[in-house]
Amino acid sequence: MADDAVERPVPPPFMWGCGACVRSLLRLAGAWGAPGGCFWEQVQVARHLAEAHPDAVPAPHLEGCGVCPEYALRPDADTDVWAQHRARDLFLPPSVARLL
Ligand SMILES: [Zn+2]
Ligand SMILES: [Zn+2]
Repeated sequence: MADDAVERPVPPPFMWGCGACVRSLLRLAGAWGAPGGCFWEQVQVARHLAEAHPDAVPAPHLEGCGVCPEYALRPDADTDVWAQHRARDLFLPPSVARLL
């Protein structure tokens, strides 16, 4: 299934009030469906969310996620990377968000 066949969620209002969020969302929108993919654009948005908007990062997924249970079991896990994984929920469809 091509990336552009998947519907993206509408990002939450706080993201539209943040210049850095808007810029990275627009970059992602521009790269969405591009032949080279938009991996780095996704990472940029998630990294910014985890750093600048930690309160907005969703709680760990209890179901349907192969990533969160792994982190939950590891006290020495990199919590920044985990937060970036959960932040993906805010701007990506679940099928894509939980790939990383
Ligand atoms: Zn922001
Ligand atoms: Zn998860």
